[in-house]
Amino acid sequence: MKEATKWIVRIRADLRCEYCGVHQRQCRYTHHIEHVEAIANGGSPDNPDNLALACHRCNLAKGARKMALDPLNDVPMLLFHPRLHTWETHFRVDASGYIEGLTPTGRATVSALKMNASVRLMERGRVSL
Ligand SMILES: [Zn+2]
Repeated sequence: MKEATKWIVRIRADLRCEYCGVHQRQCRYTHHIEHVEAIANGGSPDNPDNLALACHRCNLAKGARKMALDPLNDVPMLLFHPRLHTWETHFRVDASGYIEGLTPTGRATVSALKMNASVRLMERGRVSL
């Protein structure tokens, strides 16, 4: 992937994970350029429309998955897609950094990506300079 493409993705995301919202400065590890649709599933390897900025925890938890169970009723739902969905429609974050899924897709994504694990809450709670 060209470095210029990586910077398009980073700047578009304002250096925040497009899933959990954590800023690069709040994380110990460099955010990943993630393929929303995995290459193994036919996703483009370098089209910015198939790329998102993801913290390492969201990226590793998501893997190549496109779906996960809505914890409310165990129905399989599509995961949040940063290029097709609007974050505020699917999630809400409170002052402590806790992310609530507002829709079946939001709930499935919060659960699958373990967005509210204690280490995640601590990262989001760090002051972003
Ligand atoms: Zn994240």
